[in-house]
Amino acid sequence: MDPKTVSECLGIQTDGHLTIGGCDTVRLAKEYGTPLYVMDETTIRNALRSFRTSMEQHYPNGFSVSFASKACSFKEMYRIVNEEQCTADVVSLGEMYTALQAGFPAEKLYFHGNNKTAYDLETAIGYGVGHYVVDNRSELLRLSRIAAMHQAQVKVLLRITPGIDAHTHDFVKTGQIDSKFGFTLETGEALQAVGEALSLPNLTLCGVHCHIGSQIFDEKPFAHAADVMLRFMAQIRDTYGVTLEELDLGGGFGIRYTDADEPLPYGEYMALVSDTLHKTAKELNYPMPRIVIEPGRSIVASAGITLYEIGHVKHIPGIRTYVNVDGGMADNPRYALYRADYTVIVANKADMAPTETVTIAGRCCESGDLIQEHTSLQPCEEGDILAVLATGAYNYSMASHYNRLPNPPVVMIRNGKARLVVKGESYKDLCRNDI
Ligand SMILES: *Cc1c(COP(=O)(O)O)cnc(C)c1O
Repeated sequence: MDPKTVSECLGIQTDGHLTIGGCDTVRLAKEYGTPLYVMDETTIRNALRSFRTSMEQHYPNGFSVSFASKACSFKEMYRIVNEEQCTADVVSLGEMYTALQAGFPAEKLYFHGNNKTAYDLETAIGYGVGHYVVDNRSELLRLSRIAAMHQAQVKVLLRITPGIDAHTHDFVKTGQIDSKFGFTLETGEALQAVGEALSLPNLTLCGVHCHIGSQIFDEKPFAHAADVMLRFMAQIRDTYGVTLEELDLGGGFGIRYTDADEPLPYGEYMALVSDTLHKTAKELNYPMPRIVIEPGRSIVASAGITLYEIGHVKHIPGIRTYVNVDGGMADNPRYALYRADYTVIVANKADMAPTETVTIAGRCCESGDLIQEHTSLQPCEEGDILAVLATGAYNYSMASHYNRLPNPPVVMIRNGKARLVVKGESYKDLCRNDI
């Protein structure tokens, strides 16, 4: 198997070792220990740039690429995103604080989330956060009250649930009517909320937002959502006489985890959405809004891998073979959560054919602590290094301390050189808040 089919930054060197960004993964595992997250900076920057280039081409009058930082949140990520002239989405004070600690400008942050507390909003106003993506009426009134108290004028987008089924895993769908997120379009709730937002003096309503789900492979739901949202903006104009200027279409672009995934080329998605928007704008005589997109997974997933050391290999004749690794659901809960697909490879035998069918098991005290089941792998034994590919998104950011496991370090590769960007936690770190 050619690991390049999963990510351009991967390769196999002459001794059969897997490489990332030109670095030998087996040496990285020795140097930094396992489990280890490794990310290729060039891949991240290229992804951000290609979205920007494409947006520039389709929306010359204004756009923003906003990295959905919940996919991967640590200081160095925000520095890279800022250097690449992108904005960032945050969904918590923790993400916000991390961004600000990295020198990310508060005015370039979009604050998301379906239950922002009064404390969250007060803190964000204190920081000078640029945009609030308001999810519901309670939040709208809460934000208005707090902004008035602080004599602040805050920019608001309303999150709309456009009633679109994105054909993806149930847990990562967010556009359909049955969703905890957003103001519902079909029931009239959304239009009414716009009227209310327009009447609140400390809020400046800039536009509307939708996000229909994640790991989506079909460009049609995106185009459909864009069309529905722009029609809604025209309806707002016709109802309230206000032409909103910003349309945020969210993220959700799929990536290749295994050979079975056929992600749509992002250029095609961008072209179809842009065509749809331009046609609809013309039909409705609506000026093209500033378009915002919020890619998360598609910026970082393919840039990352996780390295583990293989422990006991347990053959159960006629049943299956478990390959135990020194990490698992604590550093990558995605299989346990979603039955997520991954490609796995023995990093020190990457040039061998994957002739075995195995289940990769983690070290937590849960039978569900698996990374992948019935997956093909090179023959392996205790002491080998296992690489799980495309773990750059929703792995480090979803890590837990279950079984009191410290979070692994993150190493970033640039120009063939590795540097630590997040230290691994120590046992002392684990106890630092215990009294
Ligand atoms: C999660 C999320 C995104 C990013 O989704 P990806 O699938 O990682 O691209 C964008 N916008 C919002 C509001 C989100 O919740």
